[in-house]
This record gives sequence, C-alpha cells and structure tokens, in this order.
Amino acid sequence: MSNKYVYYFGNGEADGSTEMKNLLGGKGANLAEMINIGLPVPPGFTITTEVCTYYDKNNGKYPEGLETQVEENVKKLEEVMGKKFNDKDNPLLVSVRSGAPISMPGMMDTVLNLGLNDQTVEALAKMSNNERFAYDSYRRFIQMFGNVVMGIEGEKVEEPIQNMKIAKKVSQDTELTAEDLKELVENLKEVVRKEAGRDFPQDPKQQLWDSISAVFGSWNTERAIVYRKINKIPDTLGTAVNIVAMVFGNLGNDSGTGVAFTRNPSTGEKGIYGEYLSNAQGEDVVAGIRTPLPITKEEGGDDSLEVIFPGPYKELLNVSSILENHFKDMQDMEFTIENRKLWMLQTRTGKRTARAAVKVAIDLVKEGLIDEETAILRVDPASLDQLLHPMIDPNAKKEIIGKGLPASPGAASGKVVFNAEDAEKYAEKGEKVLLVRIETSPEDIKGMNAAEGILTARGGMTSHAAVVARGMGKSCVAGCNDITIDYSKKLFVGINGIVVKEFDYISLDGSTGEVILGNVPKVEPELSGDFTTLMQWADKYRKLGIRTNADTGHDSQVARNFGAEGIGLCRTEHMFFDEERIKAVREMILSETVEERKKALAKIKPMQKSDFKEIFTVMKGLPVTVRLLDPPLHEFLPHTDEEIKALSEEMGVSVENLVEKNESLKELNPMLGHRGCRLGITYPEIYDMQVEAILEAACELSKEGVAVKPEIMIPLVDFSSELKFFKERIEIISKEIFEKLNIEIPFMVGTMIEMPRAALTADQIAEYAQFFSFGTNDLTQTTLGISRDDAGKFLKYYIDDKIISTDPFMSVDIDGVGQLVKIAKEKGRSVKENLKLGVCGEHGGDPASIEFFNSIGLNYVSCSPYRVPIARLAAAQSAIKEG
Ligand code: PEP
Ligand code: MG
Repeated sequence: MSNKYVYYFGNGEADGSTEMKNLLGGKGANLAEMINIGLPVPPGFTITTEVCTYYDKNNGKYPEGLETQVEENVKKLEEVMGKKFNDKDNPLLVSVRSGAPISMPGMMDTVLNLGLNDQTVEALAKMSNNERFAYDSYRRFIQMFGNVVMGIEGEKVEEPIQNMKIAKKVSQDTELTAEDLKELVENLKEVVRKEAGRDFPQDPKQQLWDSISAVFGSWNTERAIVYRKINKIPDTLGTAVNIVAMVFGNLGNDSGTGVAFTRNPSTGEKGIYGEYLSNAQGEDVVAGIRTPLPITKEEGGDDSLEVIFPGPYKELLNVSSILENHFKDMQDMEFTIENRKLWMLQTRTGKRTARAAVKVAIDLVKEGLIDEETAILRVDPASLDQLLHPMIDPNAKKEIIGKGLPASPGAASGKVVFNAEDAEKYAEKGEKVLLVRIETSPEDIKGMNAAEGILTARGGMTSHAAVVARGMGKSCVAGCNDITIDYSKKLFVGINGIVVKEFDYISLDGSTGEVILGNVPKVEPELSGDFTTLMQWADKYRKLGIRTNADTGHDSQVARNFGAEGIGLCRTEHMFFDEERIKAVREMILSETVEERKKALAKIKPMQKSDFKEIFTVMKGLPVTVRLLDPPLHEFLPHTDEEIKALSEEMGVSVENLVEKNESLKELNPMLGHRGCRLGITYPEIYDMQVEAILEAACELSKEGVAVKPEIMIPLVDFSSELKFFKERIEIISKEIFEKLNIEIPFMVGTMIEMPRAALTADQIAEYAQFFSFGTNDLTQTTLGISRDDAGKFLKYYIDDKIISTDPFMSVDIDGVGQLVKIAKEKGRSVKENLKLGVCGEHGGDPASIEFFNSIGLNYVSCSPYRVPIARLAAAQSAIKEG
C-alpha cells in the first residue's frame, strides 16, 4: 500500500488516468482521464480503493495520513473553485460518489449537494439569486444523506414531500415554492432526528466524513455482496470514493442533466442515445420520478435535448466522438448542464445487449478503431445466449395488455409475482416467474436474477430495472404506464381493464415492449449478418474444434446451423424412451434368457438404425461419436402399478415376476453401479446390437453416396481389459457386416475417460482406443466424490460461504479434474501420438473450462446445440489470449 491515498483532478491537471482503475475505481480513473484529454469535468479528488480495503480490515479505521490528504485536497478544491466549505457568502458544495474498479449498481452511489446547511443554503440562494433552487437542493441533500448515509428508509424521507404535495394540491415537485421547500427542510430534519436518533449534521466536514464512511461501508452491504457474487466480482477489489465540486442541473430551465450512450445499447446502432431532464439533478433521471425525455430530435421531437439545448447538444456530440475515439468502445456518459454549459460527470464502457455487443464490435472494426481480435474479445460468449434464445412467435395470437419500453430483448413467460422475495421463493421451487414492480431497486437484485423477466410500471431505458436486466441478459419491459399495480391486492390492471392476479401467466417481449396475456408460443431467433461475421472471425482464430452433444436429427441440424463440426456425444439411451420403443426396451431388460433378450433387441435395432441414419445424414460426413448404452437399466423400468400390469400382459409374464425383477435391479448407488460398459460386459448382446445398428446404418448410407464417419464410444471404462473386450468384439462384428453388405467403411473405436482410474491408466487404455472423450460430468462426480444428482442440495452453501468459488459441475475443477484430464492426455498421447482428445461433459460449453481445455491442447469440445456459438467464441478468445 502506497502512502498516497488521494488523487486530485481538475483545471486541466489530474494525478490519475484510466489505467489506474484498480486504484481509483472506474469512475475516478475516467474522470481523471477526461481531464487529461481536455473535456469539461468539474474538479474533485478520489480516495483510493486501498483505503476501502484498509477500512474493511481495520474495523472502520482509516490509514494514517488520509485525513491530512483529504484536508489538503479540500483546500485545493476550495482554491480552484474560489469557494469554501461552510462559507456564509460563497460555500463549496460537493458530490460524494462510490466507484469500484468494476461498475456495481448494487452499491451506495451518490450524495449530492454536500456542504449545505442552514447557513450555506442562504448563501446559495443569494449566489444563484434563486431561493427556490437553494432550498430544493438542501431538501434533496437531507433526503439523500438521511437515506444513504444515515440509513433511514427511502420511504420515510420521501413521505414529507408527498405530504407537502398533497397539502399544497400540486402533482409535481417543481410546483412547490421556496416557502414550501423551507418548510419541507424542517420537516425532513425532524424525520432524521426521529428515525436516526441524532440531528442532521450541520458541519460540512462531518457531512463529508460521514459520507466517505458510508461509501466504504456500502462495500459490504448484502446487496453489494450479492451483486458481486452474481457478477463474479472479487470481494477484495474495494471501492474508491469520488468527491467532486457540484455543478447544478436544477438551477432553472437553462439547466438540466442526463445520461447518454454513444451508441444505442439495445441495438448497437451508431449515434447518441439517451435521456435527460431539464431543471433536475442526476438522481431524477434514474429514479423514475419524472419520465425523462430523449436526447435526439428524431426520438424526442420538440422536447428533445437537441431542440431545447442546441449548444450543449452539439458539444455532447463532440464529446461523445472524442470519448469513443479515445476509449475505442461505446461509452455510457453522465452529464449536467448548468446555465447552458455542459459538464461531464462520468464516462464508462456502456453495458449493452448481446445483439448490440456484436454489432458494436463489428462496426468498430469497420470504422478502423479496433482489430478483429479485439472485436472477438469484446463479446462475452455467455451473453450470446440472449441471441440464441427464442422470441415471441410473430404468428402467435397476442392479447396485448400493455406496452412499455423495450428495455432488454428476448421473450419471457412466467407466473406473475409482485416482489423479489416471492420471485426467489417460487423460482427455487422450479416455477417460472415474472417479477412485476412499480420500479426496481438494488435490493431486488436476487429476485430479478431468479425471475425469467422483469416488468416495471415506471422508469426509463436507463432505470435500474432496464440497466440490470440488460446486464443479466433477461427480458425486460420498463416504464409500462398502461399497467396499474396494486401491491396490497397482488394484482395489476392492464389495457381494457384486464386484471392480472398473482400467479397468472403473462409474457414479455423485451424487444418491442409488449406485455401479453398468457404463455405465448416462441420461435427460434434469426441470427444477424453481424453475428455470422463474428462467428467467422472466431473460427479463424480458434484452435479447438467444436462439436455438439445431440441424439436426434433435429438437434443435430440445429447444432449444424450454429456451426458444430461433428457430434461429440450421441447418447443412445435417449432414443429408448420413445413410447413405442420403451416397451421393447423393457422386454429386453426383463428377459430371463439370452434368447429372449435377443428377440427384444431385434425389435429395437431397426429403430436405432433409422435414428443413426437420420443423424449421419444431417451431419454429412462430419464425425459422429455414438456412445453405447450407459445408464443403469432400472431407469427404463415401469414404475407405476398400471405400467407393470400393462407390461405383464404384453410379455405374458406374471405381475409378481415383474415386481421381483424390478426390485432386483434396484441399486443403492446406481451412478456407481451396473451401468456403462459394465452392462456391455454382462449383456454383450446389447452392445452387439448397437454396434450392428451403427455400422449397418453407416454402410447403407455410404452405398447411397452419403458420406459417414462413425466413431463408437465405450462409456465408463475403468480397466483397459474392458475396452480390449469390446474392441475385439467390434472388430468381429464389423468384419461380418462389411462382408455381408459388401462395403467397408472406416470407423473408430474409443472411450470416455470419466473414471479417475481410467485417467491414471490412460496409457494402457490408449492401446485399444483411437480417441478419448472426457466425460467430465462423471469425472467430476467420481474425482470429487460428489454425487451429481445430490450436489444441488449442498453445493450452493459451499459457493455462498466461499468454500469454493464456482460449481465444479459447471466450470471444470482445474486442480482436481483438470489435472486428471492433463495426465490422461499425456499418458494417452505417449502411446498414440495422434490419439484424438475431446470433452463431452457439460464443461464443453463453459467458457472458463474451454479456456483450460484450450491451454492443454485438446482437439475439441462438445456441447449442447445452443451453446455451440458460445463455445466457438470462447475457444477463439482463449486462443487469442494465449497469443
Ligand atoms: C459425462 O459423464 O461427462 C458425460 C458426458 O456423460 P453423461 O453425462 O451422460 O454421464
Ligand atoms: Mg458419463
């Protein structure tokens, strides 16, 4: 920790720069940078994140020297501004804002007008020649300070103003007079005294230190911790505190404030996009109290910033392009206009939807600002999910019950709930819920995360709900004035008086802003040209092949359309569950003799063969790895009395007999029981049938001129002798088939490495395998000794309590499972240099795991069809980062 805790910026000089984000937080570093590039930023200073860490570790104490440095910087600010704290003629007022290295809307954000008290408010009134403005600023300050610094509930400090409006019979804050506001200030001070048990502090220095402590303290509020967890932000980063001289957007109609993006954050379209309010302070725009107006004339007509404030608008355009050229990315800016002069209060990389992320990345390359590699790194692979998810079917009949702002795209349907706790509670029970709120606040974060989508009645495109939903990639309709919510009755009323009660189904179209009654059908999305371009670029850079896990022709086709280069895992058992087939499968399982079993298998074989034909045909000569039967047999058995009775009639076997057989197949630990190749050892005729079906399908298609590339995979191998057993059998069967059909096709035999013993003896196993596919689901289960079916019950506590940082079934456990994969790879390759290595567990679609698999030089990963683009992009990013 250095001894410099405070960094000054202002009047063309700044101690910091954008590179210092970890120390100064995003806001502080970029305020300094804007000064460095000559933009109009009011002067101020930043207290570093190191102080936050110190404060945290030392029970709210500050490092020695901090106080002096803050004093010195306050003095500097006073000199530069020609104003003084607590001055009765010319008082200095500041804002205090938090600012972590990674933007965190879950934290305490802002205190404005700090420095106001009973004395300075009079001075401000004289200076501005606007008593109303001065008292409006003062009442805002007491409200904010009372709420975020002194911890009084928002509603409590909001109440006096609502009461005042009722008493004065006005609807807008702006209609209250100076006298009203003076009275309001006294009422607010009374609320503070009552609720906080102490007076509102009059000394600006105390106000400042109280605020600084509140910002540092906010690092560890529950909602900040939850936000960090959801967004995987390390707890060790800490937040900085920014203290900036006030400029006033509420000085009258020549002043205003707003937020703007350099490009549209929903679509990525180039051009300034945002909202503003005249005669207002920053909080008014995001709080949803007044509905903000658009920036451009195109969007907002005569009410737009472009028309009302033409000078500042032009300057904002200029600043916007300077910032984009400088940071080489879309920016999200906050600004204030004081008496028609533009001041920049913040710039940061703009959060955007996946659609916008792809378009902006491609456009910035076209505009020559970044190169292809940077563009690839700019798009979060996991966010592509948003693009790949279904949209509302354009042909669906829709009963529209409201229309709001298209705040975050994609379609979502679910049962209506009216608060975040309920959203969490019912989502945990497996319900799909939609969170409906008048507006959201950071306390709602957990519920928003649990909900399928979010609908708010108030607020703009930059409201809390909109910003957070876009970040989460959830569908959101915001500011839907058509609905009236009654929390107490748990219902809302939409267009035409339609009443929607708690647990009624509705759907949201986050791309159009429509709110629709019921659970509306959805369709697959159409991918844009920019998406295709990005994927093509990704393919140029990635080294890992991308395959898919698919068991049907349809899924194979979806995966092909998304760019899969083969099937890494076709789980044949999924084909057994079809209503027609399950009977034959049960017959097979319940057979007493080999003959009986063969008879049943003969019924299944043609069905399997036709499935394989369909998949091979779709895959057009790309490799298709088919895994022989894997799960324990009891999974296929009849469970209910009716099912048992029906089967007994079908098979001509007594019910008692069937029940007994059923019982005998039950296992204490089926995941470690009679499954995988163990079934093939005890009932070789099952695997024989499957091998025949695969190879006959391949031969017949080949004869028809369809290219085929089958790979036969043996699951759950522990001993090389198991694989040897099958390899020899498959050789005999294949010869017979090739002879019978008079054609020979190349095929491979390999195994899944999903048992620790197999990984450790991979050199022995490689003698009989042409490929290894890492079954990291089972390998995780068996390496960690954590049952994959039961992990959900306790792993979440592990993650919540930070025993581990991520779920090992989602992101590969590098130290355990990862090392086994590495050992197996090295041992396997030491025997067979060209041994093909892939991953077909769930980790094959997880970006962090993909980075690991890329780093150890595997050949491919395989994932579910919808994750194929995610894997392509993640693989490219890994290769680029590796250099
Ligand atoms: C695995 O174990 O990783 C795997 C892909 O197989 P399954 O999930 O079918 O057990
Ligand atoms: Mg497995």
